[in-house]
Amino acid sequence: MIKNLNFFNTLSNKREKFTPINNNKIGMYVCGPTVYDFPHIGNARPLVVFDVLFRLLRNLYGKNKVTYVRNITDIDDKIIEASQKKQKNIKELTETITKSFHEDCNYLNCLNPTYEPKATEHIKEMINMVSNLLKNNHAYENERHVYFSVSSFKNYGKLSNKNSEQLVAGSRVEISKYKKDPLDFVLWKPSEENDPGWDSPWGRGRPGWHLECSVMSEKFLGKQFDIHGGGLDLIFPHHENEIAQSCSSNKNDKFANYWLHNGFVTFDKEKMSKSIGNIVTINKLRQNVNGQVVRLALLSSHYKQPLDWNEKLIKESQNTLDKWYSQFEKIKSEELKDDILKPLQEDLNTPEYITKLHSLYEKSSKGSKSSKIEFLSACQLIGLLQEDKQSWENFKKSKIKVDENFINQKIQDRNEARKKANYKLADTLRKELEDNGVIIEDKQNKTTWKYK
Ligand SMILES: [Zn+2]
Repeated sequence: MIKNLNFFNTLSNKREKFTPINNNKIGMYVCGPTVYDFPHIGNARPLVVFDVLFRLLRNLYGKNKVTYVRNITDIDDKIIEASQKKQKNIKELTETITKSFHEDCNYLNCLNPTYEPKATEHIKEMINMVSNLLKNNHAYENERHVYFSVSSFKNYGKLSNKNSEQLVAGSRVEISKYKKDPLDFVLWKPSEENDPGWDSPWGRGRPGWHLECSVMSEKFLGKQFDIHGGGLDLIFPHHENEIAQSCSSNKNDKFANYWLHNGFVTFDKEKMSKSIGNIVTINKLRQNVNGQVVRLALLSSHYKQPLDWNEKLIKESQNTLDKWYSQFEKIKSEELKDDILKPLQEDLNTPEYITKLHSLYEKSSKGSKSSKIEFLSACQLIGLLQEDKQSWENFKKSKIKVDENFINQKIQDRNEARKKANYKLADTLRKELEDNGVIIEDKQNKTTWKYK
């Protein structure tokens, strides 16, 4: 079974044909959230991007042939700091954020990963890997700390395509008196009495963040697997360190074969309104914007490119879905033709796929039942138009805001009424706008408005 699938592989720095280790057992690992604060729209991007990749792989290789692992980091310095700052105990904090994260995933219509391991449930395996690294002379212990010795691993910097000097110069490396070299990174560190800790051969302590992904990917996918994903910001040091740990522990120069990294989300601050733009955590976004709209907006740029999050993008996505939903009906998804799938097979080109969806929509709105099924199946492949139409209509009714033309017309009418000293009419018009969720303000002979 040969599938035409290409990815840009960060490891080789070029586009490559995807060849799985085993066609019947595709493995994908994506770094999940550190549950110390509510996930924001930047965190939503990899969730949706790799969900689309998961769906595509399932479509190409078979539903049960793909294993998707996404971890939950529930022990980390950031969590300890946040729990002190918020005066919440760690368990309560991590459980609240994990619950909210799962609600975010549902809202964004992401499929559950096959496994979602928690760091705190794999401490024993992490201690084993640290022992292994010490035994293989890739790590050293210093006053209850254990560090990975970067100079012991010759391929360090290969993923980020930098030598060790560039790595030190180009990044903020953690400074510690226990390290032999600035690039060395912590595998195990001692815990303060009141902080979470586990007994280990190096005393009571906790693992370094990088370690868990090496341990959990191996547990669920094996020593070598197909795809590793995450945000661009994770390439160095996190992913570089994962490779160093896993390869050194396993005495193997292979770890993940294909590394995929999504770009950042930027914010158009000036044009952002309070109603949507300033709300960047997903759980707040949930109250104002339909999850399908957010999903389509996140897929509107190619995953490697930066994505600018702004009100225009949200409105455009809303309008598109509004149009597309006119074709909605419950269908049984059918297999898609190769030429429809092609953009996704070419390094997950979602903007081109969305262009294709627009033309399928045109065909569907004019054409036969089969073109409708084709359009809806193509939407569903990337997790769109799966909720029922009624809930979309209800959402629109409850949330839709009055049109700007309507607002401007009312303001114009009101100003004319005021000119003619018809203050009663002017007040009625102001009240009418208010009832529609619009507040107006008169300043220096000008009337401005905003949504409530
Ligand atoms: Zn990771």
